[in-house]
Amino acid sequence: MENLHTLPLLPLRNIVVFPHMSVGFDVIREKSMKALDAAMNGNKEIFLVTQRDAETEEPSVTDLYKIGVIAKIEQTAKAHKGASRVMVKGICRARLCKITAESPYIVCIAEELKEKKGGQMIMNEGFVRSLENIFDEYFTLTKNVPPQTFIAATQENDPGCFADGVAANINLGYRIKQEFLEESDPYVRTEKIIAALSKEIEVLKVSREIEIKVKGSIEKNQREYFLREELKVIERELGRRDGTAGEADTYRATIKKLHLKKEVAEKLLKEVSRFEKMSAMSSDSSVIRNYLDTVLALPWNRQTRENIDIIKAKEVLDADHYGLEKVKSRILEYLAVRKMTGGREGSVICLVGPPGTGKTSVAKSVARALNRKYVRISLGGIHDEADIRGHRKTYIGAMQGRIMSAVMEAKVKNPLILLDEIDKMGSDYRGDPAAALLEVLDFEQNFAFRDHFIEVPFDLSNVMFIATANTLETIPAPLLDRIEVIEISGYTNQEKACIAERYLLPKQMKKNGLENRKITVELSAVNDIITYYTRESGVRGLEREIGSLMRKAAEKFLSENRRNIKITSKNITSYLGKHRFRIDEMNDDDDVGIVRGLAWTSVGGDTLSVEVNVMPGSGKIELTGNLGDVMKESAMAAVSYIRTRTKQLGIYDKFYKTCDIHLHVPEGAVPKDGPSAGITIATAVASALTGYPVRRDVAMTGEITLRGRVLPIGGLREKSVAAYRIGIKTVIIPQDNLPDLDDVPETVRSGIRFIPVKNMDEVLKAALQKNKKEQCFIIPEVTEDNKKECEVRA
Ligand code: ADP
Repeated sequence: MENLHTLPLLPLRNIVVFPHMSVGFDVIREKSMKALDAAMNGNKEIFLVTQRDAETEEPSVTDLYKIGVIAKIEQTAKAHKGASRVMVKGICRARLCKITAESPYIVCIAEELKEKKGGQMIMNEGFVRSLENIFDEYFTLTKNVPPQTFIAATQENDPGCFADGVAANINLGYRIKQEFLEESDPYVRTEKIIAALSKEIEVLKVSREIEIKVKGSIEKNQREYFLREELKVIERELGRRDGTAGEADTYRATIKKLHLKKEVAEKLLKEVSRFEKMSAMSSDSSVIRNYLDTVLALPWNRQTRENIDIIKAKEVLDADHYGLEKVKSRILEYLAVRKMTGGREGSVICLVGPPGTGKTSVAKSVARALNRKYVRISLGGIHDEADIRGHRKTYIGAMQGRIMSAVMEAKVKNPLILLDEIDKMGSDYRGDPAAALLEVLDFEQNFAFRDHFIEVPFDLSNVMFIATANTLETIPAPLLDRIEVIEISGYTNQEKACIAERYLLPKQMKKNGLENRKITVELSAVNDIITYYTRESGVRGLEREIGSLMRKAAEKFLSENRRNIKITSKNITSYLGKHRFRIDEMNDDDDVGIVRGLAWTSVGGDTLSVEVNVMPGSGKIELTGNLGDVMKESAMAAVSYIRTRTKQLGIYDKFYKTCDIHLHVPEGAVPKDGPSAGITIATAVASALTGYPVRRDVAMTGEITLRGRVLPIGGLREKSVAAYRIGIKTVIIPQDNLPDLDDVPETVRSGIRFIPVKNMDEVLKAALQKNKKEQCFIIPEVTEDNKKECEVRA
């Protein structure tokens, strides 16, 4: 058959040769060289077929593809290391039919394959043009196909030929190219090539994008690197030692030295790198510098050695404070528990009491006894959660919250922090500081407290917190739950005098440089200061007055050249000026309609008198003296009660139609409120209506209900101290308050008779002098004349 050819066979590795295409390659294998020689000696035709696997050294028939190309050798030349370089041109496709010899070179019979001819011009042109377009695109992307090949390739009008030309010149693997070679239908071949090229173009586009990106970032990094190096050089030239880079190195060294937790150190190092990249002048860099300076200044590892020695603690507390026995023993118990449990257990102590009663100074002593640093945070008036927890550092002027500021101030991580006035904290739209405080105080959470500014967690579990408050009423309930309340009540005058003599006088003398001078302050003078110059439960005002006394004395020592000074109750006014307060004294006589009540204010206990006048009128009740709503309501309840007791009291039962009642509580400038004056008001009204005088040495306190029951009240200790101060002998108290008598100082208890009562009848029995009835006022009765008027009112 004329289309069968017996030819030397040359196996190709990694390449595929197409008909009509010229290709050059090196021949190295000996068998192949021999095949080449044989062909050269014959008609220069050779059968080229690609190996399935390029690695195979001696391919057998199965290692070769079935379809190859009959080619003409155009040129041979000696190449490097004994190889031959050949230039061949493909003639036509051919199928490997049989191998007839394998040595010294492979001889085969190859069947020439006729190309299917596409007949229609339009079809041909359509295929050629599509392939041309896509090849064009491919070429612009790769630019690695030599233009002349491209031009040569595009001049073909036969789609089969053109497809072969394109296939030979594109950069695809030999396996794919072999597929193109094996396809004898030119249209199908073109389609396959178009598909392969489209895919290749997509891949090229993506890889180009990646390249551009990578190159861009490398260039940027390089640029920054060069600029930074340049900056360093400039900085060096200008004599600035190291600029931000130097600062960053210092930060890094500090971070390393602190041995922080991994999470914290990583975060800080990240900030340092950011800082390093910024211009030293930018505002961002000063924000980060400020941040790093703050965080690194925190006492991450520094602490004082705590020393819970109960005996020493007791000594310190006793040395610093007079009295306060209950408080001291509660504190010692608390410390004992802390020692037993290793400091973790035990809630936070809160000292509650009027101002100047030594809360702050007890806390200071505790710190001293335990060898802890003392820091005070004033919480009074704060509304904003950020006050506790700080502002995020992106805010202008942001800084850490008060807790972290306190820790910084202490410079150790285990200070004693006094949370002063937790009852004065508010909350509004800016968040609830109490909630943030809860987190601070909670042992389950505070080992990793996150301040918004600091950002990294800080361990607060070593801090000891003590809180103070004036009253429990305004402390938010969840906070109250967490704290252990220790109440400090006000001092009696005797206690104040002792505190003044033992602590305040020596302290103020020293402060004013008088400790070596001869100065005596007599007890009478001290008592006068307490009664006439101060009105308080604590001793802060007393200390202030003693301070001014000492300053005046210092001035006298110098200006009058005095050798010694003696201050007595006689000359006290020449030092402190006229008396500022007058003593609230007992009434001179047993009076009708005047009753002594007891009040409790934030500065301690006080007495107040309630006065009632009854006059002919039309049933009006007038309440004056700056009374609050609660107090007004208890006045109404008191009057209603008396209306139910007219028979027992022997008063005209329709008094509420024919009399006006005016109730007044003197010192109208001072606002008064609360329910505890209930029984006092009722007694005053009853006395005014009956004409029975009230015993002048009786004082009382208690809430009244409509049915005359007497309910318990607060602040009994302060109230009884106030009563004792003005010489009251009998105090009527609600039965339910009996247990509170334990808190009343011994001197007061021995000087006053307390009468516990359950209802109003018992109060009236104890307070009214029934045998001294005064007929100063007769209640008018309803008559025919005023009947109509009275009915309207009733
Ligand atoms: P608070 O914190 O309760 O308002 P402070 O602790 O500031 O009161 O006390 C005011 C002053 O009174 C301090 O100088 C304190 O030393 C002194 N002081 C209060 N109570 C006593 C006491 N029991 N013994 C000695 N000094 C006292």
